[in-house]
Amino acid sequence: MTHILILGGGFGGVAAGVELRKLLPADHRITLVDRRDHFHFGFRKTWALLGESTLAAGQRPLKSLERLGIAVRQGNVDAIDPKTRSASVDGARLEADALVVALGAQSDPDGIPGFREYGLDLYDGPGLVAAAERLRNFPGGRVAVVILGIPFPCPPAPFELALLLREYFGRKGVQAVVDVYSPQSMSLPVLGQTNCAIVESRLEASEIGFHPNHTPVSIEPGAIHFKTTRAAFDLLIGVPAHRCPGVAGASGLAAAGEWVKADPRTLETGQPGVYALGDMVAIPTANGKRLPQAGVFAEAQAKVVAARIAASFAGKPPQATYEGTGFCFLEVGGGAAMLVQGDFLAEPEPAVQILGPAPEHLQAKHEFERSRLAEWFGG
Ligand SMILES: Cc1cc2nc3c(=O)[nH]c(=O)nc-3n(C[C@H](O)[C@H](O)[C@H](O)COP(=O)(O)OP(=O)(O)OC[C@H]3O[C@@H](n4cnc5c(N)ncnc54)[C@H](O)[C@@H]3O)c2cc1C
Repeated sequence: MTHILILGGGFGGVAAGVELRKLLPADHRITLVDRRDHFHFGFRKTWALLGESTLAAGQRPLKSLERLGIAVRQGNVDAIDPKTRSASVDGARLEADALVVALGAQSDPDGIPGFREYGLDLYDGPGLVAAAERLRNFPGGRVAVVILGIPFPCPPAPFELALLLREYFGRKGVQAVVDVYSPQSMSLPVLGQTNCAIVESRLEASEIGFHPNHTPVSIEPGAIHFKTTRAAFDLLIGVPAHRCPGVAGASGLAAAGEWVKADPRTLETGQPGVYALGDMVAIPTANGKRLPQAGVFAEAQAKVVAARIAASFAGKPPQATYEGTGFCFLEVGGGAAMLVQGDFLAEPEPAVQILGPAPEHLQAKHEFERSRLAEWFGG
């Protein structure tokens, strides 16, 4: 009996499992492995920090994939052997005819000394309840939203957070000055200068200071040290740099300290029957950047991988290819969002435009979550 093993039950892994189940006959077994027992959307973290909703409200048990005919195994992937299409999960060896590796990106909050002690981490799901409490009790002052290193999932998230913080403090009557610091030379380099100007003028219109070329070195109480300067803060919210999960490096799927390289169009890793997708794969764009780490891309890649696996099991040449189109919603406050959409793998540079802000883009963001949770988990 044919067996497909999916490592990772995040955006890409779940989308791959659901799509494979649609395409493969019922006698093909599909197993999905994750150390967590649940799934939620990344943007819930911003909502949870701001007290707009909770992570729990958007959390779904991975086990409910079993109703579709996908076996779910909770455990830690300790090793991957691409040559034999197998993995070790909590010490037990699982073998497969096709292997899909979708383990995401691993946050590195310790990369900047002092961050854990003196900052709030937007990307730390379990820490968000305490972080939201700190924010709620913030009496006012200087708020620093700091990109601690790159890359990180959802490049618009810190800018969106800054815009929503302005609205948050305004609503509460709290006097706060909000600044965003980034090690990069512009807000969203992959989008190019014209689109960055749109985002940056939006920040300016909301009286948010944007400070590019600020590479953090360390944080102490009340001050952050950058390579060439320092800035004082009363509240610091950081977005940590992310790394490729160590187990990918140990397996040889990624070189030491690098991200997994897979064919940008087929997501094949070079080992027959082994695919990698989502945040752990670095796909270069024509302007010398990398495809942003985003759920929408992981999902699209998962559909390509599923179609290629299904074709090869049916004895047909795989035709599906990844095109690099995608979208994301950047909330600006006031019940509206911008829509960033386009072809990120276009030549000679990504062909991306920013629409809005408009209320319908915010509604589309909510629908983006609602529709996936309904299809994948039954509501
Ligand atoms: C604040 C925020 C806002 C965001 N907003 C958007 C948005 O608006 N639109 C969008 O498209 N994307 C958004 N994202 C990004 C999106 O969440 C990620 O890009 C997406 O989840 C990546 O999917 P993935 O499958 O590659 O990885 P993940 O979804 O991270 O899944 C990886 C899974 O692998 C598991 N895992 C890792 N290592 C192991 C191991 N050794 N053993 C067992 N399990 C393991 C993890 O538990 C995890 O469940 C946002 C992210 C954040 C943080």
